[in-house]
Amino acid sequence: EKINVAIDGPAGAGKSTVARELASRLGYVYIDTGAMYRALTWKALESGAGCEDEASLADILQEMELELRNNNGTPEIIVDGRNVTDEIRLPEVTNNVSYTARHPHIRKYMVHKQQELAARGGTVMDGRDIGTAVLPEAEMKFFLNATVEERAARRHEEQLGKGMDSDLELLKSEISRRDMLDSERETAPLRKADDAEEVDTTRMSIKEVVDYLYTRIQR
Ligand code: C5P
Repeated sequence: EKINVAIDGPAGAGKSTVARELASRLGYVYIDTGAMYRALTWKALESGAGCEDEASLADILQEMELELRNNNGTPEIIVDGRNVTDEIRLPEVTNNVSYTARHPHIRKYMVHKQQELAARGGTVMDGRDIGTAVLPEAEMKFFLNATVEERAARRHEEQLGKGMDSDLELLKSEISRRDMLDSERETAPLRKADDAEEVDTTRMSIKEVVDYLYTRIQR
């Protein structure tokens, strides 16, 4: 019997890597809901509309063709036929996405799409409101957390590893700012669902976290 697994938590807690590996181990589909908000943000910036005005965001969303594809285990995001998997991770998108995600009608649309994707079970979905709003009935719910220092340090290592410039203090302030916007918005703010299990990953490796969640699901 295939269930749904909800994984929420603040920015940089390792949710996406953990969710992707957990899904592959379970033979489930990984759904990155943050990528959906990022895709809309990318298109809004691209079209010059910005992320403040809900009506223009809604227009863009109406016209936008959004596809979540799986390329041999690597999730890809396609917007209007264009592969934007890398573009949606650019700092400009990252620093604006929480504004896009504040608008109630935009969230309603995204949540509905996400619920359709999970309707038959067999998904591992990560985001901010999966356990509370998207899949309140999910059989397994986790809330991954880590100190902001640890989350910034991980992102820092990751960027250096890719040969990118990286400023640890800047990362720390960007992550804190995004957490604040996500926790303080009115609609479905970032919050642990009452029935979610919180996992502090500060001193855990990705593999340890995946192993732990897998064990909890098998039990
Ligand atoms: O997970 P990721 O960092 O890619 O998410 C980007 C942003 O999208 C979050 O900071 C948040 O503002 C928004 N988001 C959301 N609800 C979700 C997933 C992401 O509001 N379920």
